[in-house]
Amino acid sequence: MKVSVVKETASGERRVALVPEAMVKLRAAGLELLVQSQAGDGAWLNDDAYAEAGASVVSRTEALSADVVLMVGKPDAATVAALRPGQVIIGMLSPLTEPDLARSLAAAGVTALSMDMIPRTLPRAQPMDVLSSQANIAGYKAAIIGAAEYGRFFPLLITAAGTARPAKVLVLGTGVAGLQAIGTARRLGAVVSAYDVRPETRSEVESVGATFIELTSVGPASGEGGYARALTEEERLSQQQELAAHIARHDVVITTAQVPGRRPPLLVTDDAIKEMAAGSVIVDMGASPLGGNAAGSVPGQTVVTENGVTIVGASGLPSTMPAAASAMYARNLSALLLYLIKDGELALDPEDELQAGVVIARDGKIVHPALAQEGAVRALSDPAS
Ligand code: NAD
Repeated sequence: MKVSVVKETASGERRVALVPEAMVKLRAAGLELLVQSQAGDGAWLNDDAYAEAGASVVSRTEALSADVVLMVGKPDAATVAALRPGQVIIGMLSPLTEPDLARSLAAAGVTALSMDMIPRTLPRAQPMDVLSSQANIAGYKAAIIGAAEYGRFFPLLITAAGTARPAKVLVLGTGVAGLQAIGTARRLGAVVSAYDVRPETRSEVESVGATFIELTSVGPASGEGGYARALTEEERLSQQQELAAHIARHDVVITTAQVPGRRPPLLVTDDAIKEMAAGSVIVDMGASPLGGNAAGSVPGQTVVTENGVTIVGASGLPSTMPAAASAMYARNLSALLLYLIKDGELALDPEDELQAGVVIARDGKIVHPALAQEGAVRALSDPAS
């Protein structure tokens, strides 16, 4: 079976789906590996490295004709048009927020597996959990960016030229990325506080050395599968107002809050930003064209408000650490492939719980239960998000 890696097409995307070191086990499992020439350039992995690992370096057209086509993100329209019925593609396809892509893949007769749909709570799925591996990278980088943008020190420094107090960092949203941001900011010497709507995160927050902030105006908002549920309008306003006082007391605020399938919740309002001291920094990992966790954040840009607050629209952070992010993604993807391969061929079993979570289109149909039901897909514009 021919399995290929194509070069990513999204603007600014530097990751690659497989790294050379991941190829040994895949070849041993009987796969013939093809890599589009220059697919790894963004992660400093050249064609020779792939050739040495036993892959054939080929054109995009040839890579797109393989039995299984691997990618990090989503295929663009030209890529979808080049696929033929019966082919398999695997990438982070975001079917909950981009159901039209899933539909177009189904219409093309392509079998589509979405790495971001791996059922994360299944123990056997943990080595395949791309959301965790990429969120870890993003959380680390967010803390580094916060330290770089802040015009003072993160640690307590006592020098002959004076004493610097440690920076006060607030992390909002303490899932995988938030916990990594806390750990990184702590290692840099900052004093860290954190908040999440899921009260069960308190022990995790405390175990990585931060103080958990509890809000009195918002009750617990744990949803299904370890995720948060969307707040009601009333809860949202109370949360924003109560958080504002905490935000004003901090030097650097890192926001990582997400609710699956919805746009990120707004946690740092314009009014809260106005109360922040000049020189404060917000790193908004939720920054998106539809708005992020912080008012005024622009994805991929750094803006400075009139009162001197720097807001970093920190979207796409894993791609800014392409070597680490590609290596981790490749390990996740290899684990999934090795799980699915029997006698050198892909053996898909819809009865398997892990596969039922990850396969979104097959035999010309949308097969994922969250997508197949009419109206089950939550639109990003949903006002309750
Ligand atoms: P995520 O990226 O979906 O969200 C990040 C955080 O934002 C979450 O902690 C969420 O509670 C928080 N959040 C959402 N709305 C908020 C709001 N209005 N205010 C404040 N915080 C808000 O989450 P994630 O990092 O993908 O992790 C989600 C959960 O999945 C975690 O419990 C994690 O431990 C769990 N998980 C479990 C496994 C496993 O069981 N193997 C693997 C990975 C992750």
